[in-house]
Amino acid sequence: MFGRRPGSPPVGKLLAKGSRRPSIWVAMDLHTIETLIRPRSRAELPDWRAGDAWLAGGTWLYSEPQPDLRRLFDLTSLGWPPHHASRGGLTLSATCTVAALDRLELPGAWIAAPLVGQCCRALLGSFKVWNGATVGGNLCLALPAGPIIALATALEGECLLWAPDGSERRLPVTDLVLGPQRTALAPGEILRSLALPAAALSRRTAFRRISLSPHGRSGALLVGTRAADGGFTLTVTASVPRPLRLAFPDLPGRDDLLLAIDAAIPDGRYYDDVHGRPDWRRQVTRLLAVEVRDELAGACP
Ligand SMILES: Cc1cc2nc3c(=O)[nH]c(=O)nc-3n(C[C@H](O)[C@H](O)[C@H](O)COP(=O)(O)OP(=O)(O)OC[C@H]3O[C@@H](n4cnc5c(N)ncnc54)[C@H](O)[C@@H]3O)c2cc1C
Repeated sequence: MFGRRPGSPPVGKLLAKGSRRPSIWVAMDLHTIETLIRPRSRAELPDWRAGDAWLAGGTWLYSEPQPDLRRLFDLTSLGWPPHHASRGGLTLSATCTVAALDRLELPGAWIAAPLVGQCCRALLGSFKVWNGATVGGNLCLALPAGPIIALATALEGECLLWAPDGSERRLPVTDLVLGPQRTALAPGEILRSLALPAAALSRRTAFRRISLSPHGRSGALLVGTRAADGGFTLTVTASVPRPLRLAFPDLPGRDDLLLAIDAAIPDGRYYDDVHGRPDWRRQVTRLLAVEVRDELAGACP
């Protein structure tokens, strides 16, 4: 995947003192890329310019031509610890891989834990993709079928963003993901981490997913949560262009739930691509929403 640019110094000359890996490298598969930089700290992050991109797992970046890109900045070289659990909740670094997230063992009180694995496994790829794809890459790519987007939306995820001027801001994931491959990230802004609050991790969850083929990308992916006080939320992803989260103070009746879905997703607002037609997506979304509701209708623990 990588190699030395013709005419560039030998690899040894590109190694920073004391480093075992080159700090500048050339991505051969993306023929427009001139430089790959591996910053070691925030202070080493570059001045951002047109043609720059953050590189995480590279599973999408290397999967198609990127004619507008010239420089890649490898976020994995920053060495962020992948995850951290505390009384307040779970913080995932943007560079935490889907495989590492799936392996995570969470405290018993966080009964939403099975949802983590269900969402990870909704990213259908080889072990190479699983071990490379990151939480941040999935969120920032902002595909409707992004399963980490579904997880983060259902569990009220909050994103920490780093701006090039050194400032930071926090955004709910529903405000980060604006549409297919469209986010609220400003040029040069980095998603640093995703925080999932303990309160959301302590809710019961129900998960439903459907695709047109057994190993196909999600056509609809829905998650329900139920709090100890009865509060119910429904997250709809994959069938709509951006994640949608509906919240109810108590479990709605089936008809009320369907009315709320129809109000939030009017006709013509279901997503249309090779992974499903809008009329099919509308039908399966309504069906799976009722299943999610019924699964969570039982008494709360
Ligand atoms: C076989 C295969 C199956 C797939 N299946 C699915 C699927 O089912 N659902 C789905 O949604 N996607 C799927 N994808 C695409 C998938 O979203 C990505 O492959 C993966 O989640 C991207 O993660 P990455 O770490 O590899 O990101 P990269 O490819 O490194 O980057 C993706 C984009 O996000 C940007 N980016 C990455 N990290 C950050 C950050 N921290 N801050 C700011 N910008 C950042 C990059 O600049 C780039 O624009 C699939 C891809 C493959 C190859």
